[in-house]
Amino acid sequence: MAAYSAFPVHAAPGAEPKPATAATQAYLEQFSASLPFADREDFELATRGFVAAVPGNRILDAKGNLLRDLNVEAFFSQPVPPTVNPSLWRNAGLVAKSGLFKVSDRVYQIRGVDSANMTIVLGDTGFIVIDSLWIAEAARASIDLAREKLGNRPIMGVVYTHTHVDHYGGIKGILDEQEARARHVPILAPRGFMDTIASENVSALPAWARRGAYQFGFGLPLDAKGFVTTGDGPLYSGSGNTIAVAGTTSLIPPTHEITHTGEAITIDGVRMEFQLTPGTEAPAEMNIFLPDLHTLCLAENAGGTLHNVLPLRGAEVRDAKAWADYLTESLRLYGSRTEYLITQHYWPHWGHDSIVDYVSSQRDAYKYLHDQTVRMMNNGLTGFEIAERLTLPDALAKRWFLRGNYGTTSHNAKAIYQRYLGWYDGNPAHLNPLPPEEANKRYVDAMGGEDAVLNKAKDAFDKGDYRWSSELLSRLVFAAPSNEAARLLLADSLEQLGYQSESGAWRNAYLNGAKELRTGGPAPGIFDAAGNSFRNLPVSYILDLLAVRLNPDKALKAPMKFDLDLVGEDKPQSIEIRNGVLIHENAPAEKRNTRVVTVDRNSFIDAVQGRHVNGGLSGDDARFLERFGSLFEAPRTGFPLAAPRSR
Ligand SMILES: [Zn+2]
Repeated sequence: MAAYSAFPVHAAPGAEPKPATAATQAYLEQFSASLPFADREDFELATRGFVAAVPGNRILDAKGNLLRDLNVEAFFSQPVPPTVNPSLWRNAGLVAKSGLFKVSDRVYQIRGVDSANMTIVLGDTGFIVIDSLWIAEAARASIDLAREKLGNRPIMGVVYTHTHVDHYGGIKGILDEQEARARHVPILAPRGFMDTIASENVSALPAWARRGAYQFGFGLPLDAKGFVTTGDGPLYSGSGNTIAVAGTTSLIPPTHEITHTGEAITIDGVRMEFQLTPGTEAPAEMNIFLPDLHTLCLAENAGGTLHNVLPLRGAEVRDAKAWADYLTESLRLYGSRTEYLITQHYWPHWGHDSIVDYVSSQRDAYKYLHDQTVRMMNNGLTGFEIAERLTLPDALAKRWFLRGNYGTTSHNAKAIYQRYLGWYDGNPAHLNPLPPEEANKRYVDAMGGEDAVLNKAKDAFDKGDYRWSSELLSRLVFAAPSNEAARLLLADSLEQLGYQSESGAWRNAYLNGAKELRTGGPAPGIFDAAGNSFRNLPVSYILDLLAVRLNPDKALKAPMKFDLDLVGEDKPQSIEIRNGVLIHENAPAEKRNTRVVTVDRNSFIDAVQGRHVNGGLSGDDARFLERFGSLFEAPRTGFPLAAPRSR
């Protein structure tokens, strides 16, 4: 199948990655001049307590395929390449330090092996694991290393700090579900964990996945002109030296969701207190305090760089004020008793005073971003204008852990504005503008045509004014996608912005945009969401998923009403297709539909994927379900982001 693009896909001359221009080098020199590179404390913290590396520094799957290649020390010990922002290079080198590390007598961490950390607490007889990494193969290698160095101990409990897959996806690499159930291994998670995972993975997943590829740098090589870090942690893939999510993700549901701050649970002799922090870095997230070990785990609420109020991949916008308030609460509840601070990305901090200073400064940063965005908003500035002006005060901005290596003050300001005021900036001229392709054809025409715009863009590019050259060229590419000169110069322009970016997420987005403008994007495919991860969801979530895949034209011609009774499940669903929507609710006992389709779950999922159904149904019910299934369409993946989408 051809790649997505409206434009031809081939490696044209001039389509290779370019060096940093003189303008980019000058920009980065000036950018770095005021940063405290002499402050090397993080290098000490990131290596303190090193015990051992994963054997061979490689994560393999069962067939011996290389999933993660952690042999990156030589790469990151080079001097800063001119194509990487020195602040980001510093951060990338720090998170690349991988292996098993000792935090205190009973607390260890696996870091740098997968995107996030695995914390291992020594209980009286076994391990308590906080977060199980993204992929099972990395989790297995990590627990094997811990057993080799700390004793062959069983897993006595697991805590998931929050709902992001890099914190739970590896669970089946360390725990067999049946064995865990038989041994009554407690698996704890914050309130709303399963609901959040189900809902986050239902509606918008295809769009998030595509946008996430840009944010995380999937498809880029680990290279001075490519990927160096996500900004949040390492993700070095073995597949052809290109960053990709490879490996096995899994989930074992929690046995207990923590319901309130202050809830305390003892596992294997280790006392734990929990602080719920919903709406911070994830909709369901929590901090953990181990009073006897004087250890505070701040999950992903206070890591080694500024985080995202709204990640570039897209998400429900987070609450910067709540984030700050919860850190204030953490200090009040646990500050005086804390000697060790751990987080689920980045390195630990030691010593009460230093920890209180660190957490307070983190808190101040989110509070400052929130309060000053709202202040400027109330003076009439829009998100884009606030983003241009908002910088942290020097006392915060010069702390390495508040640099924008992942989140930035710029996109966080826009996110905070969005939380309060939404997409509309209040200017009626922006209320109903022409869509991009239509508007840009007219812009290009008004600016004197394709050649005139290209020439103006070249001038801007030659002056190093890459924000403006990118703006002009993006309009031209949307107006005239077959203009190869425009496309390639836009790629060059985005690439220089990528080289200049302090944020890994920005760098990855710019460089993936450049790459796809040069060589085309992934081939369009049909997202087979009902295939694996959805097969086991509660039926109401499956119906929610189907509702956002309904083809309205087909649905309008086929109104229908029935009860769906999945064999062995307790709640029949009443389903109605009307006015181009799918409505469903638990079927009220007193008012059942005249048609009741009783079917096993797998046959139902086959039907909604357009497959032939058997499952012991009558011919009439089978035809009915097949007709129902024909109303849905899987979303197309691989859609363009830096080029027109309408064709
Ligand atoms: Zn994470």
